[in-house]
This record gives sequence, structure tokens and C-alpha cells, in this order.
Amino acid sequence: MSFNATMLPPKAAHPTAAELYGAAGTDFDTLSTLEKWWVQWYLYFGDPVIATGMLSFILHEIVYFGRCIPWIIIDSIPYFRRWKLQPNKVPSKQEQWECTKLVLLSHFTIELPGIWLFHPLTEFFGMQTWQVPFPDYTTIALQVAGFFVFEDFYHFVAHQALHYGPLYRNIHKLHHKYSAPFGLAAEYAHPLETLILALGTLGGPILWTMYSGNFHIVTMYVWVTLRLFQAVDAHSGYDFPWSLQHILPFWSGADHHDFHHMAFTNNYSTSFRWWDHLFGTDDKYRAYKAKLKAAKAQGKDVKKLEAELLEATEREGQIAEKVAEQTAIWTKASSKVKVQ
Ligand SMILES: [Zn+2]
Ligand SMILES: [Zn+2]
Repeated sequence: MSFNATMLPPKAAHPTAAELYGAAGTDFDTLSTLEKWWVQWYLYFGDPVIATGMLSFILHEIVYFGRCIPWIIIDSIPYFRRWKLQPNKVPSKQEQWECTKLVLLSHFTIELPGIWLFHPLTEFFGMQTWQVPFPDYTTIALQVAGFFVFEDFYHFVAHQALHYGPLYRNIHKLHHKYSAPFGLAAEYAHPLETLILALGTLGGPILWTMYSGNFHIVTMYVWVTLRLFQAVDAHSGYDFPWSLQHILPFWSGADHHDFHHMAFTNNYSTSFRWWDHLFGTDDKYRAYKAKLKAAKAQGKDVKKLEAELLEATEREGQIAEKVAEQTAIWTKASSKVKVQ
């Protein structure tokens, strides 16, 4: 018997959300309020691809800029300067606006298409999107904790690679424009950097889905929300007595990442301190902290010493940046680099 096209099953049209819920036999009566809203959202758009794309993009914008707003207000109130890590460097309105423009451009040109492609990609890997009920809280919490650990290590490695001469010069230098960062600067980066580092955020959920086949996009939203909070806060430039790193000593926070921007080297990880600690890539940071602590113990003028140390660290950082910038692929070490 020869093959002809009529033997193929009829090509199914892209199913609507209503058809999907019908086929899955979803029992709407047992759902929580949030799950009912979720179903309403998918039914309203009909096409699950559009529903997921819209929700992902809106959520990203609300969380990112929503988390930046308190920091913009704090920057405008002098009272809070006492907790600013680099108190002499408060971002101007102009700087914040310039930064916002580039971040928005990147969101609409790089992240929006990426987010839009996310639904087909997630379905390909077997992630659940329109489905209800949601996973239970324990499952969400454990998966998110795993993603934090995965992303932190990925970032620790990829971030150091981005400090290598050609990659730094062409990609990561843009993010280092601000030696004293502020919340909005968290996503101020070259499109390639956004793509490279996004792999750390997306990689955990994708690998987990491939491994277990048990992953719901609502967990992804919890993870991305917390990851955005972490990134914006790490760039805020403030270390309050109630900041998370004083409660969880292994949490990086602004205190850790602000130093990276100031010193140019050290502190490459995102959420946790352990990798930098283990590999000694926090030696300058620790020496800086130890000097301040010793001065405080001896009752010395800490403010004056802090100002001197900040200045010296930044000066060294500028030299280190020039060295990195001028390191070519074929230069083995920085010995051939001229530093003005
Ligand atoms: Zn860096
Ligand atoms: Zn940064």
C-alpha cells in the first residue's frame, strides 16, 4: 500500500484554553481564588501562548520597576545617607533617567521577544502553564531554593568570564558604568550579558523540568520575582541594620555587590557569599571589612577611615578595570598592559 496524505490524522488547530481545560477535565469548584483568576486569565486571552507571554512580561515590568521605586525615594531623602555604602555617590535624577531609558529599551527589544518565546519553549520541555491547581507551597519553596543555588554558582563562573579582557571590553563594561550602583542599574547591561546571565535564571527551571517533568510556571514566577528583588536590592547601594545579610550571614546583599562595582574585582556571585569565600575572590573585600572592624574596636574615627578606604579601593578598581580592558586574547598576562 502506498502512502498518501489523506492517511495522516487531521491537523489539529492550536487548542484554546477552554478546550485545554475541557480536555483535562479541570474541576473549577475545588480551586483557590488565585487559581480561579489564573483560569480566567487564560480563558480571557483564549490562546495560551499570548496569555503566558502577556503575564510574564507584565509581571517582569511590575516587579522590576516596583522594586526600584522605594530605592529611588530613599535616594532622594538625605536621612538615609547614613546607610549608603558609598555615601558621597548619590545618583542624580539625570543618571537615573538615562539608566531607565536603556533598561526599558532592553526590556522591549531583548526581553519581550524572549519572554514571548517562553511559552512554546516551556511546553517543549514539559513545563505546565495554564494548568491548575498550582503545586503546593513546599514544592514551590524547595524548587526555588534549588534555583537560587544553581543560579548563584552559574553567575559566579559566568561573571568572572565576563571580566576577561575581550568579553569585558565588549560586553560587561556597560554594566560597570556605575562604580556606585543604584536599584535601576541592576539590569543596565549589554544585550549579550542579559542573554548570558539569563541562562543562570532560566537554566535551573529548564533542567529541572527536563529531569523531573514536574514544574509549573507559577513556581517560575515566584523564582523570577525573588531573583529580581535580589538583583535590585544588591544594586541599591544601601546596607541597613535590618538588611537580609545581617540575618542570613551567607546572603550577599548590597554590601557584597556594591564592593564589586567599587573595587572592580572580588565578589562575583549573586545571592550567596560561599563561592567567593571558598575561592578567595573576596580577599580585598574581607581585608577592607577587617580594617573597618579593627578601627571600630580601637575607637578610631571610622567615618574618616572609611572615606579613605573607599577612595583607595575605587582608585585600585579603576586600574584593575584598565588592565582588564587592555587584555587581548593573545596576551597571556597583564604584563604587557599599559596603565595610565
Ligand atoms: Zn562585574
Ligand atoms: Zn552589578
